[in-house]
Amino acid sequence: MSDIAFNSRHHNRIRDLHDEITAWRRDLHMHPEIGFQETRTAGIVAEKLRAFGVDEVITGMATTGVVGIIKGDRDGPMIGLRADMDALPMQEHTDLPYKSQNPGAMHACGHDGHTAMLLGAAKILAETRDFAGSVALIFQPAEEGGGGGGVMVREGLFDRADCQSVWGLHNWPGMPLGQFCALAGPIMAGIDYFDITIRGQGTHAGLPHLGVDTVLAASHLVTAIQSVPGRNVSPHDTATIGVSMFKGSDAYVVMPDEATIGGSVRYFDPDTRDMAEARIRSLAEGIAKGFGAEAVIDYRKNYPPTINHAAETDLAAQAAAALVGEAGVLRESEPCMAGEDFSFMLNERPGNYIWMGTDQPGRNNAMVHYPTYDFNDAAIPLGVGYWLGLVDHLLGAR
Ligand SMILES: [Zn+2]
Ligand SMILES: [Zn+2]
Repeated sequence: MSDIAFNSRHHNRIRDLHDEITAWRRDLHMHPEIGFQETRTAGIVAEKLRAFGVDEVITGMATTGVVGIIKGDRDGPMIGLRADMDALPMQEHTDLPYKSQNPGAMHACGHDGHTAMLLGAAKILAETRDFAGSVALIFQPAEEGGGGGGVMVREGLFDRADCQSVWGLHNWPGMPLGQFCALAGPIMAGIDYFDITIRGQGTHAGLPHLGVDTVLAASHLVTAIQSVPGRNVSPHDTATIGVSMFKGSDAYVVMPDEATIGGSVRYFDPDTRDMAEARIRSLAEGIAKGFGAEAVIDYRKNYPPTINHAAETDLAAQAAAALVGEAGVLRESEPCMAGEDFSFMLNERPGNYIWMGTDQPGRNNAMVHYPTYDFNDAAIPLGVGYWLGLVDHLLGAR
């Protein structure tokens, strides 16, 4: 494993634990569990936290969520550090010795690495405890679509762990190892889903005049929906709206009673989202009516946008700069149109969600959600070092 330089007062301890944390990470990689089914993973997390001597371990939040609380050696506020534990429902295509043993499940987003790194930080924090206040280690389920972070918030996460601020980290292929990106303001998009059913009159494909063609109406709707980001969203704002699902008949010769389409709306500004929803509803109803059909619309608000708070983002950038140097910290970049349910926590408490680069020359640097992706274990010391540096920064080393 190639080494990368970093500055931390815990440098030697982190180096000592690198192999052990890597082994945890690979074990999690081998046994991936998808959203709300992270039973084995959560069991390992809780067991390790108890073995480290963490003061309090809360289990069973949002089904499989775990929170560990470590008290420092003097009074102060509580901060929350968050990792996600879930895998994706997809098949791994690698030859790794620790490749997924669970068919149809894969750690393709590096949540195995996030969980292992936060456990590594927990171990060192529980050993040293030289900070003012307490650190809540939040291990959440179901980041990939299930909204486990939101469920934990609704189940009273911040009543049970009254964090004054919350902090997230995601590994980021496409950025080099040794680089962090701390963006103030929007960093990940909000995401809604919609399903629209066009109901008409099915008929024989050779007798179209006897029916109401739902596939044709739905096709016009797919095209018209693209006018929303193109013509209704301000050129100074952004939204990505895509129809990714289309279902008509199962036969060449049958025109179906119903055609259904489904897709997503991605945005940063809630007013833009409300406008997009209203436009999609209006287009669906109007186009269906024009074809003599009817539209049934199911529009579901999913993840809010992830908006980093300015002051906390500055603190995160400072902690990263202390670790890798000022040149290793990007403070400006383009936000990503993917979603992230850490947004539910950031809506309740100030905080920051930081990207950590993982690319190295000569390595498979596949993007997250690719079947060949593998978390870069060389990033472990940087992730652990960032968490520990952040605690120092916020709660003060002696
Ligand atoms: Zn992901
Ligand atoms: Zn992820």
